[in-house]
Amino acid sequence: MTQTQSIKSILQIVAQQLGTEEAKLEAQLLLQYVLNVNRAWLISHENDALQPNIHALFEALLKRRLSGEPIAYVIGSREFYGLDLMVTVDTLIPRPDTETLVEAALGEISLHDEYSVLDLGTGSGAIALAIAKNRPQANVIAVDASFAALEIARQNSANLQIPNVQFLLSDWFAALSHEKFDVIVSNPPYIEQNDAHLTQGDLRFEPISALASGADGLDDIRKIIDDSLVYLKPQGWLMLEHGYNQAELVADLMAQTGLVGVQTLKDLGGNNRVTIGRNPLIVNTHWA
Ligand code: GLN
Repeated sequence: MTQTQSIKSILQIVAQQLGTEEAKLEAQLLLQYVLNVNRAWLISHENDALQPNIHALFEALLKRRLSGEPIAYVIGSREFYGLDLMVTVDTLIPRPDTETLVEAALGEISLHDEYSVLDLGTGSGAIALAIAKNRPQANVIAVDASFAALEIARQNSANLQIPNVQFLLSDWFAALSHEKFDVIVSNPPYIEQNDAHLTQGDLRFEPISALASGADGLDDIRKIIDDSLVYLKPQGWLMLEHGYNQAELVADLMAQTGLVGVQTLKDLGGNNRVTIGRNPLIVNTHWA
């Protein structure tokens, strides 16, 4: 007869095996996943015995995590800005750093008016959905060059019942016609293609097209900035996430293109993470 173990003792054993605080949280996430319960349930039922079949499933998934697969891919989801998002190997795993970009965008989008917002390279839809959820009057267009990623983003929009996002297959601005936006946001790939981090940790499992961008990591950022003025409304904002050491270069590129009010914002870890600039044009209401 198989001996059943309590949730608490399983968590203790795994935590000991792995050592880190993060590992403990990940073990909890895995248990929540196999039991299909939330964190509160797990904590209040820590003395319950885990059924052997559930325990076996937990062990199998733990093995995948131990062999390096990101926890978000093992359980197929990641929380971002209060949204539970489905993620797969076709999408980047949303990072807390990116919440800085969402906050910056929300700061420029009225709660009461119909602002138009564009999210370039939406991946799982994280940024577009966080904005749309918090600004129900906004019309958000989310594009990605990956059909597989867009399918995930669409499913997230349906699961979360966030209706004010439209998804479009597009390589940056390529499939857009003449629309102009109040706010354009993007977390594009920005890692240097030879950066050693690409061969370490979670990044090894994530889509390279969502991570790396040429020798200095700025190939895609350059493309986006170059075309941005065509797609920004007068006074509209471009907001880009970038690497901790790229702020100055991104700010220079924005200024060279003619964007004004250029400034850099820090992420929760205190790193320069988002640079914003706006279209200097003023709407002329006095045409003679
Ligand atoms: N912030 C991610 C990382 O360094 C990279 C995301 C990106 O390239 N857009 O892990």
